[in-house]
Amino acid sequence: MARKIGSRYTAHQILGRGSAGTVWLGEGPEGPVAIKLLREDLASDQELVGRFVQERTALLGLEHPNVVSVRDLVVDGNDLALVMDLVRGTDLRTRLERERRLAPEAAVAVAADVADGLAAAHAAGVVHRDVKPENVLLDMQGPLGPGGAHPALLTDFGVAKLIDTPKRTRATKIIGTPDYLAPEIVEGLPPRAAVDIYALATVLYELLAGFTPFGGGHPGAVLRRHVTETVVPLPGIPEELWQLLVQCLAKAPASRLRASELAARLRELLPMLAGIPPLDVDEPDADLDDQEETPAASAAPAGNRARRGAVPLVPGARPDSNRDTHTSMRVPGPDELAGGAHGTARAPRAAGAARPGSARHRAAARRRRITLALAGAVVAAALGVGAWLATSGDDSGNTPDTERSAPASP
Ligand code: ADP
Ligand code: MG
Repeated sequence: MARKIGSRYTAHQILGRGSAGTVWLGEGPEGPVAIKLLREDLASDQELVGRFVQERTALLGLEHPNVVSVRDLVVDGNDLALVMDLVRGTDLRTRLERERRLAPEAAVAVAADVADGLAAAHAAGVVHRDVKPENVLLDMQGPLGPGGAHPALLTDFGVAKLIDTPKRTRATKIIGTPDYLAPEIVEGLPPRAAVDIYALATVLYELLAGFTPFGGGHPGAVLRRHVTETVVPLPGIPEELWQLLVQCLAKAPASRLRASELAARLRELLPMLAGIPPLDVDEPDADLDDQEETPAASAAPAGNRARRGAVPLVPGARPDSNRDTHTSMRVPGPDELAGGAHGTARAPRAAGAARPGSARHRAAARRRRITLALAGAVVAAALGVGAWLATSGDDSGNTPDTERSAPASP
């Protein structure tokens, strides 16, 4: 079913769905293109329209092999569309879902590509703010790199921001996807380039482990973990790679590497990683966390709770509408964040490693105590977050999660 977009483009078939619209395989005067079309029912939403324009603006003048180029912005009647270079392949989330974990060499090759793309964006003064597997495209027609990895391209600059835009210094709103949000954003600081490094390190961890370091459960709990928990080593991970991950997951933005440095360091590791199979890791205490950590989480459908990669932001949202979610929440107060979460870091263990039942029970008991202690803080956070969830979730039947019904903040 072909559809005209403006006078120059035709959309042929759906390639993917994001938070605000649909990406189509299309045809333009110069050949095949990808067309991101804002959903019609959202066309009157000023904030989303702004995002489309923002994406175009952020990418003007940014040409890089690891960044999907935007070619055109079409405004035609009710249609608002971004015309992009077509990437023939899949997004990284789809690959991760298929393979669960990537071999270290392939994971690092993908991360190095994204780091190169970020270096270009940062050099152009743009912070991406939504680095996650859904927003990394794999070009299956490109040359095979180390570990059989296809070239990776960063896309979706819809919430990107120019670094140091002076008008807003006080951050009142969190924009991003909970699992990938840098701690300084949770604490209300304006997003700098280092937030992208944190998000990319989270993606790399996820590619290696099959789950994100701080994901799982209620979004408020995820945010809190970014601030209070330290990341626990993955069994079997080569030490140099682990050190790099730790450095880029540092709570202090200044301690993280810059994108170009990260890309270079990752590429240096590639020869050493050749031939290493995917890590053999068990998800940490998924059963315990899911049942006990956050009362709010247990209200979510089981399918959502079982997966750590993405956190449902709208109760009862369908799994595929969770995938591209970014959230918009208010910044929690210091009291809400200071939940005394020490000791809750969940250690991943080698698959099949024996765990004495007694230790497990002690851990469960400790977790229960911590849970109780945290309940107040989580509930307080949930009140804030929940207000947002309630407003955005009430019409969630077929509404992808966006920040469109978030309470406006000045
Ligand atoms: P949103 O801003 O709505 O999240 P994205 O830009 O992330 O939209 O695109 C949503 C999905 O569409 C991607 O995850 C990917 O599967 C597909 N897609 C996006 N851009 C392209 C492209 N240039 N070429 C091919 N597929 C694309
Ligand atoms: Mg996206």
